[in-house]
Amino acid sequence: MLNIVLFGPPGAGKGTQSALLQEKYQLKHISTGDLFRYHLSQGTELGLLAKKYSEGGGLVPDEVTINMLKEEIEKYPSAAGFIFDGFPRTTPQAEALDELLSSKSTSVSVMLALEVPEEELKTRLAGRAKVSGRADDADPKVIQNRIDTYNRETKPVKDFYANQNKLVEINGLGSIEEITDRLYKAIDAL
Ligand code: AMP
Repeated sequence: MLNIVLFGPPGAGKGTQSALLQEKYQLKHISTGDLFRYHLSQGTELGLLAKKYSEGGGLVPDEVTINMLKEEIEKYPSAAGFIFDGFPRTTPQAEALDELLSSKSTSVSVMLALEVPEEELKTRLAGRAKVSGRADDADPKVIQNRIDTYNRETKPVKDFYANQNKLVEINGLGSIEEITDRLYKAIDAL
């Protein structure tokens, strides 16, 4: 199986690139942010709980997020592999993912980490707000909180994969095609 953790701060291009990678490598794309938004649109208890945390730019508690991810993976027993987008966002989530995949006799193949400077992230998110309809893209304070949350809680997850020799950093600046090409090269080199 090819299991890719597509990593990066908010606005790095994870969702855009996941869609392209999913098609080329025939992988199942799982975005925990999309799953939370779907639950919210359906008015489920999980959606309402997630909203409490995500609207301020913080993280949904690990236990809730990990359980949701497990359930999602179970839906695709014959997948050729997964692209994890927006997960793991904490070290306990990374540990849980290792455990889960190892129970299925597989593992994370690589973490591809998109590197984008903070000023560029803010510009991109403000631009995206006009089309995404996401409340958390529209408020500069929430954007700053999401970036701070990333730096504080999520960035250390890179070390987790670096320690397993699975971290590949990718320059996330340039055109969508240029970045896709860098990702393809990194995957094809595995
Ligand atoms: P995203 O679409 O990946 O930017 O996620 C939107 C929001 O959903 C985040 O700001 C978090 O509040 C929440 N979220 C998404 N994925 C996770 C995760 N793996 N752990 C905790 N919270 C998450």
